[in-house]
Amino acid sequence: STFQTLDLSRPVLKGLANLGYTKPSPIQAASIPISLLGKDIVAGAVTGSGKTAAYMIPIIERLIYKPSKVAATRVIVLAPTRELAIQVCDVGKKIARFIPSISFGLAVGGLNLRQQEQQLKSRPDIVVATPGRLIDHIRNSASFSIDGLEILVMDEADRMLEEGFQAELTEILSLIPKHKRQTMLFSATMNTKIQDLIQLSLNKPVRIMI
Ligand code: AMP
Repeated sequence: STFQTLDLSRPVLKGLANLGYTKPSPIQAASIPISLLGKDIVAGAVTGSGKTAAYMIPIIERLIYKPSKVAATRVIVLAPTRELAIQVCDVGKKIARFIPSISFGLAVGGLNLRQQEQQLKSRPDIVVATPGRLIDHIRNSASFSIDGLEILVMDEADRMLEEGFQAELTEILSLIPKHKRQTMLFSATMNTKIQDLIQLSLNKPVRIMI
């Protein structure tokens, strides 16, 4: 199949072509149509599978089709490390290159907190974050909130648990009821701790195992 057959909008197809992506990877071909329907997803996917675009493409499509009238952060992508978060944000910006109305923000450790606060004040549509730093911003910044959250992604969920982010994840999940958001969880392994997180965070998820 090609990206054209997935019914994507022209600017997204242009962004993908610009990135040199012509054919969806197996995880992309399986996830994108389900995610576009607004369903929750749990996907077994390792690095290198193309998992970033598997969730970024439907997220960007949703933001195009359902523009918001007020500035609000509508999407949070959680990642275990600042390096992965920066990389995910970069891929998202490249896919959305021809959709200038979509804004991105980063909330990760190791970058200047004040500068990030300034950036998050504008309520970027998509914020890519590590769990600890996101909690810092939600607790301490009067001008940032995730009250308008529509989509939550947990990328490399197993690594987030390994990094000790369980309490932060639980706190973030408790802020927005699961039936009020679309949630996508990606994990290379599916141990019992991940199963517990799936139970806690996903609403009748479609399971995608490639
Ligand atoms: P990821 O698993 O998201 O880290 O992606 C792994 C690598 O595959 C990255 O270098 C991506 O740029 C690349 N990639 C992802 N999707 C595609 C695609 N459909 N066609 C070609 N390359 C891709």
